[in-house]
Amino acid sequence: MHEGITDYLEIMRLAGISELKKPKGQKTVTAAPPVLAVDEKVEEKIEPKDERKTEPIAVSRFPSEGSKAEQLRWLAGEAAKCTKCKDLAASRTQTVFGTGNPDSPLVFLGEAPGADEDKQGEPFVGRAGQLLTDIITKGMKMKREDVYICNILRCRPPGNRNPMPDEAAHCRPFLDRTLEIIQPKFICCLGTVAAKNLLSSEQTIGAMRGKVWDYNGIKVVCTYHPAYLLRNPAAKKDTWEDIQLLMREME
Ligand code: URA
Repeated sequence: MHEGITDYLEIMRLAGISELKKPKGQKTVTAAPPVLAVDEKVEEKIEPKDERKTEPIAVSRFPSEGSKAEQLRWLAGEAAKCTKCKDLAASRTQTVFGTGNPDSPLVFLGEAPGADEDKQGEPFVGRAGQLLTDIITKGMKMKREDVYICNILRCRPPGNRNPMPDEAAHCRPFLDRTLEIIQPKFICCLGTVAAKNLLSSEQTIGAMRGKVWDYNGIKVVCTYHPAYLLRNPAAKKDTWEDIQLLMREME
């Protein structure tokens, strides 16, 4: 099959779409069913509503009916099997999907796992993660478990280099589906990579911060990455302004 079509079907599959309906009178095209974890691999045969058709339709039980947590767990399982970025898949200890409250109105979006995250399987657990936790707990007076935290990439780039554009593109369906499941009202982009990728912008983080952006109806505030703040403590003042802007929007 043509690579573009394969990619398209893969994205539809990750989005939980198992059928592409053609106009009346033509056959239904079925996208490859999602690769389910063994214990979830259940296919249901349901009788078609249209009595003129006689064959049962195979419907993959993508867990879009389950809780947000169940859907995210399933998606994390899919990510763990992903080998689209060959180098990253070969060098990772594990994928790092996301953590926190799937019902949260607020998602923090970082860049990619570092060495600590790769080891522990959770985003933002290293020094930068401690600073993010302080921003959430001391600055916002919220608990870390009350928000959802994830990254542009689910694999650690070797040597903590920036994600390549093709890596961000490969991982994008996981981010898009995560946001569709959580349906946050607010996203806080941490750093240039998160802000540029989410908002498809070429602006610097300095130009993007301090404003409220719109992403598919979600309000987005961009600020400096905690790792940058560790190297440039003077910029913490700007981040605090951004966080206050976010909190005002969330009120
Ligand atoms: N930096 C990130 O952008 N994400 C992490 O998960 C950790 C550090």
